[in-house]
Amino acid sequence: MTDTDCLFCGIVSGEINADVIYENDQVIAFRDINPQAPTHVLVIPRKHIATVNELADVDRDIAGALHLAARDIAKQEGIAEDGFRTVMNCNSAAGQTVFHIHLHVLGGREMGWPPG
Ligand code: 5GP
Ligand code: ZN
Repeated sequence: MTDTDCLFCGIVSGEINADVIYENDQVIAFRDINPQAPTHVLVIPRKHIATVNELADVDRDIAGALHLAARDIAKQEGIAEDGFRTVMNCNSAAGQTVFHIHLHVLGGREMGWPPG
């Protein structure tokens, strides 16, 4: 399922270029165009899901696949041992700007807490 007006569906279909670093049958991951850390990768499902609020029970495998990909990417990027952060923003109060869910994987620097 894709949404023709969705930027990240365009990356899934290959119509929009991205620096893809990881993919499997359920997810694709690419470097953020405006990185907030030395490593900043976005992991997205191939299926269009607008926000976490739209995640359905049938999307259980996809939700898991996003995190398993983050684990593999952290290792691939060499940030697994030092540590890294995964973030998924939902709707405006959290700062979501692209309405196709994406797991941010951030690492390569010290992270502050609480997040802004
Ligand atoms: P959000 O604010 O929705 O949690 O995160 C959206 C992210 O997508 C931002 O970090 C932003 O820099 C990134 N982004 C927006 N447009 C593009 C794009 O065309 N290509 C890539 N690679 N990243 C994008
Ligand atoms: Zn989409």
